[in-house]
Amino acid sequence: MDYEAMLDKAKEELPDETEETSRFEVPKFRGHLEGQKTIINNWAQVASALNRPPEHLLKYVQKELATPGEMIKDSVVFGSKLSASKLNEKVVKYMDEFVFCKTCGKPDTKLSKETGVYFLQCQACGAKNAVKSRI
Ligand SMILES: [Zn+2]
Repeated sequence: MDYEAMLDKAKEELPDETEETSRFEVPKFRGHLEGQKTIINNWAQVASALNRPPEHLLKYVQKELATPGEMIKDSVVFGSKLSASKLNEKVVKYMDEFVFCKTCGKPDTKLSKETGVYFLQCQACGAKNAVKSRI
């Protein structure tokens, strides 16, 4: 391969930067099993990446999995064995319901609660949508 071809190849392999920065990265839980318990070490970090209170995220995931969890500092301890993929699936669902704007799909939203109903107020397009899920 000559130098010119190598340069072309290098260019092809570079990631598209604009695409990379505009895409919202889904945070992933990290954890381990301890006996019959599941410990998630980065619960608070995941919640803060979503810009939501960790307690709110926990309330949702607990209900979805029908498994009680307890917050201990930045971690959450669940009282049963849970797979990481199952938990990460719930984060994606949570984001769909409580983070992404229903109108424009951007994650720049604020969550508020009015008379028992959650609302998502979008900072990007100004839309305000009620959240269907009750937790
Ligand atoms: Zn919007």
